[in-house]
Amino acid sequence: MGRSSKDKRDIYYRLAKEEGWRARSAFKLLQLDEEFGLFKGVKRAVDLCAAPGSWSQVLSRKLRGKEEKSEEVKIVAVDLQAMAPLPGVTQIQGDITKISTALEIIRHFEGQPADLVVCDGAPDVTGLHDVDEYIQAQLLLAALNITTHVLKPGGTFVAKIFRGKDVTLLYSQLKIFFSSVTCAKPRSSRNSSIEAFVMCQNYSPPVGYVPNMSNPLLDHSYDVDFNQLEGPNRIIVPFLACGDLSAFDSDRTYPLQATLGCWPSRQSCKEKAISQTGQ
Ligand code: SAM
Repeated sequence: MGRSSKDKRDIYYRLAKEEGWRARSAFKLLQLDEEFGLFKGVKRAVDLCAAPGSWSQVLSRKLRGKEEKSEEVKIVAVDLQAMAPLPGVTQIQGDITKISTALEIIRHFEGQPADLVVCDGAPDVTGLHDVDEYIQAQLLLAALNITTHVLKPGGTFVAKIFRGKDVTLLYSQLKIFFSSVTCAKPRSSRNSSIEAFVMCQNYSPPVGYVPNMSNPLLDHSYDVDFNQLEGPNRIIVPFLACGDLSAFDSDRTYPLQATLGCWPSRQSCKEKAISQTGQ
């Protein structure tokens, strides 16, 4: 059975269709917000690697909310690919590894820093795990670099991460810039996937830090295995399963009727699904 036929049975895929989200990933950002209150007080937000745009949809719906608030809110979405327009979202078709993209974001915010940067970036997976993890790490570091150009002190950065064997190096990099780093796994992210999200709060770069686009994973002067680091050099990042624990399990198959009229009262919805499956 092909991947697409499995995806069609997935409860979050069906919920996304019903609620008009462009991708099931919308629920990952919604569940991260449930846990961390991501959107509180946010007026300027950047969505890196945004296409087809479900995270930008979440930002647009959550931040702009009522009409009177929508004027003050600015949202910028960046992707290599073009995406269909969204209310209140400015699109930049560009590469997040390029300084020109950072400058374009700053231009759009008229020199004001962003309150929140999110990145759901993923390369086209090759199926070779080491290669996929490496490329994903590159993308995360590119997102971090661009974030250091545009985020306000105290701001929040959220990004997809693959919890592979070199993840400690990434945590160490993030901890240089944020006082709080948590690894979070929303219910809608499949347990079978090594995908998780780093929740980096309170942006506080080292004194004198000058934003740049350099990348330590490409700096071959590293000859240390970061997993061997000990003491204060080894960063332990807390891991948190997040989202409403009564929400649907993304690895389970539910009957087709299970989503009907279910969101957002997921508790009763899940109970209904369980009574239908008898599990
Ligand atoms: N968050 C999106 C949503 O909810 O609709 C889904 C993002 S999709 C998983 C990953 C995206 O990363 C792709 O659209 C891809 O084009 C983008 N991407 C990968 N490398 C990129 C780069 N260097 N610069 C900009 N976008 C990139």
